[in-house]
Amino acid sequence: MESDLKNLKIGVLALQGAFREHIIAIKGCGALAYEVRLPYELEDKDGLIIPGGESTTISKLIELYEFKPRLDNFYRKGKPIFGTCAGLILLARRVKNENFGLGYIDIEVERNAYGRQIDSFEEFIDLNLNHNSDPKKFRAIFIRAPKITKVGDNVKVLGKIGNNVVMAREKNVLVSSFHPELSEDRRIHQYFLNMIREYVKKEN
Ligand code: GLN
Repeated sequence: MESDLKNLKIGVLALQGAFREHIIAIKGCGALAYEVRLPYELEDKDGLIIPGGESTTISKLIELYEFKPRLDNFYRKGKPIFGTCAGLILLARRVKNENFGLGYIDIEVERNAYGRQIDSFEEFIDLNLNHNSDPKKFRAIFIRAPKITKVGDNVKVLGKIGNNVVMAREKNVLVSSFHPELSEDRRIHQYFLNMIREYVKKEN
């Protein structure tokens, strides 16, 4: 298991935001992680993380560096993509009051929607990575987090706080409105690595 993890190449979009923490988290799981700063650097990667940060800034940089065609291609090939916080906003089909969104996952989101008083908070979420009747607790860190306001029919809900969806997946696209890379708990990064491992197995 360790050795096959070492064959995976995970890219972390390093235009702005919390990319270093994701690299540390992936390396902590035993896989290799690389900063992606230019579009061609996506080509040899098996999976991609779009980190938290400021979605408007990252979106402008995606445009400036002309990332879109190679990102679309990455997505269409079925390569796993994981967006956290601002990364979730960028992957969403619709973003309230904004005109960006790559549209790779059928969710609607609202930026900064948890309100001012609770700008940032830590809370146990119900994590259900295996779709069974037994959700596990995960201590999640939220920083000016977006709210998922609608979820399409083909989207699987993997994490919730009460009735709020905070983690979801549609095919090769995984999103969380919190920051798993800031926790010591690596279950979510391991889950993403498994998605990549399955993709690679299918391709070979
Ligand atoms: N508030 C940020 C945005 O709307 C997201 C915050 C984060 O990524 N921690 O882009």
